[in-house]
Amino acid sequence: MAVALSSSDPNSYSESDRCEVTFLEWDVAINFENHTISGFAHLTIKRKCDNLDTLVLDIRDISVENVFLTESGTQCQFETSNPANVSFGSKLTIKLGMVPEQSFKISIRYTTSSEASALQWLSPEQTAGKRQPYLFSQCQAIHARSLFPCQDSPAVKFPYKAKVKSPRDITVLMSAEREGTEPCPEDPSHVFYKFSMKVPIPSYLVAIVAGDLESRNIGPRSKVWSEKELVDAAAYEFAETEQMLQTAEQLGGPYVWGIYDLLVLPPSFPYGGMENPCLTFVTPTLLAGDRSLADVIAHEISHSWTGNLVTNRTFEHFWLNEGHTKFLERKIVARFKSGRDYFELLSRQGLQILQQTVSFIENSPPGNLMWPSLWSRFVSHGKKHYQNEIKSQSFIIFAKLNEGHTMFLERKIVERMHGSSLKRIHASEGWTALQETVKSLQDAKEDPYTRLVPDLRGVDPDDAFSSVPYEKGFALLYYLEQLLGGPEIFEPFLRAYIERFKYQSISTQDWKDYLFEYFSSQEDQQKLQAVEWETWFQGLGMPPCQPDYDGALLLEEPSRVLSQRWITQPEGDLAVFSKDDMNNWPSLLVRQFLQFLLDEENSLPLVKVIQMEQVYSFNAVKNSEVRFRWLRLCIKAKWVDCIHLALGFVTEQGRMKFVRPIYRDLYAWEEARLETITNFTRVRSEMHSTTAQLVAKDLHLEE
Ligand SMILES: [Zn+2]
Repeated sequence: MAVALSSSDPNSYSESDRCEVTFLEWDVAINFENHTISGFAHLTIKRKCDNLDTLVLDIRDISVENVFLTESGTQCQFETSNPANVSFGSKLTIKLGMVPEQSFKISIRYTTSSEASALQWLSPEQTAGKRQPYLFSQCQAIHARSLFPCQDSPAVKFPYKAKVKSPRDITVLMSAEREGTEPCPEDPSHVFYKFSMKVPIPSYLVAIVAGDLESRNIGPRSKVWSEKELVDAAAYEFAETEQMLQTAEQLGGPYVWGIYDLLVLPPSFPYGGMENPCLTFVTPTLLAGDRSLADVIAHEISHSWTGNLVTNRTFEHFWLNEGHTKFLERKIVARFKSGRDYFELLSRQGLQILQQTVSFIENSPPGNLMWPSLWSRFVSHGKKHYQNEIKSQSFIIFAKLNEGHTMFLERKIVERMHGSSLKRIHASEGWTALQETVKSLQDAKEDPYTRLVPDLRGVDPDDAFSSVPYEKGFALLYYLEQLLGGPEIFEPFLRAYIERFKYQSISTQDWKDYLFEYFSSQEDQQKLQAVEWETWFQGLGMPPCQPDYDGALLLEEPSRVLSQRWITQPEGDLAVFSKDDMNNWPSLLVRQFLQFLLDEENSLPLVKVIQMEQVYSFNAVKNSEVRFRWLRLCIKAKWVDCIHLALGFVTEQGRMKFVRPIYRDLYAWEEARLETITNFTRVRSEMHSTTAQLVAKDLHLEE
């Protein structure tokens, strides 16, 4: 019977209702030879109950040498145990010997294991430059306990200072402001790097990286860091960071973290990005060369508000972090990126698409459309008449844009039409992703993880991790936005929510209570009462209702039409396709095209897939989202030649979003299964431990 490790958090032994860490001073040395970090964690603790004579912390594979009261030096007895017999940590119980002051400091001298689950150590040969070893951490969800003894629960937030000893040639960065280096008098080959994070953060946002790193300035408060080999490409790819930050500030309020730097990691980094404060970690698979995958940056930037400022109290409420962040991400992309993308699309595809878009406007409520006369003329005309009207208006619009006189009109139209429809494309892509996740969880008999608020007693949150908290969470917020009157009404709520709960950790109930408090009119209350809350939060499978994604249909049209042509065209007559079919398409449309083919029940016949490669040369595409879908399409068509390409893709980068589905697809194909398992076994030791552990489950090598 699965049990909660403590009453305040199913995944943490630390009893944060009895006392709380309020500050961390981390004083450690990195040892690249032994793959360990050792030194002191000095914790300031605030007592919250009268009878606190023991302190309980989370650890995982950590060897504790001694524990003492920092001020007096008095040694404390301690013991480790694992009463719940879980695989994801142990309980460090420290006997305080008396009931301490309201606030006191305790020091723990310790060494991490070379197998610490938070850390990946790379040899010089595994890096791009092959000059220095490399170390990076990933503490979310509950790996901080393998890096330092802590209350490893997101309910507890604390600022920190760090002093990290490292070889002189290796640059160390943390999720904090850099405070320079200090010489190391007794060991001139080493230096101390100093850091300070002044905003209280949960343990999972403590992050460290050490390697042969360089930086480029990409904005007034931003640098991008990576190995020298990638740094210029990264500076180009992420040049829009400052504009995105400003867009995010319009939605979320002031950015409180000071600097916003980006770190491009080695390819084995398991996620798209990790929102470590002051220093977002990202996968190198974002380096598409055309800034087309910057939605991940919009996502990580959004976490500066939802997640890092307002935090889930336990990982059962992870959707509060990820659902809200997806929601903000798509709003930023719609406001900032898509305006441009759309405009390019307009210019390329001309009048016909413009007509369709205008008809989309006609069918949308006027909202904030700022040119009422055009609006009213559009809607007052009959269908037939309207076609001609639009034709002439379209030319006027283009003419005016060319003259540069109507920036106002351009922005409003592009934003209104495109912003919102492009947001809908991303949103409907998310819905498709959710459907796939739900199906694969159901196939794996893991239905309980399709709940928006899952029960994580006895469960490692990494095992429950999927797109559900992201996309089901997004769908709920998007549904509520439509229900309550649209962005003009809901965006102020989002901002008020952040203001209300900033610097706190909250539960789903806190969120819901505030929603009901904010939308207090009788009409809104009636709407909210009618929502199927129980099904949204606790229901298995897909959400009880689907938000309206209709706006996406228009923009997806070219992808849909072309995919249908490929499906219906007779196999003997494929010469009708040419590379002009998707001439100058933005990569989002190419993604959609491949996704439509993947969504089909039947696989596309092999002869068509082979012809598609001849015509469109997908094997040569760099964009990782396009490559991912293309390889899945090839696997679905059982194209034997593509097996080595697919295995290459999952070996050269370790982003779980790509690696796990492709490994699962290959496993399901009997002819490819043995080669797939062999490949995994061969490269496993070079993979990130979290990815390796989960892929091993996907390949049925471990329970
Ligand atoms: Zn996220």
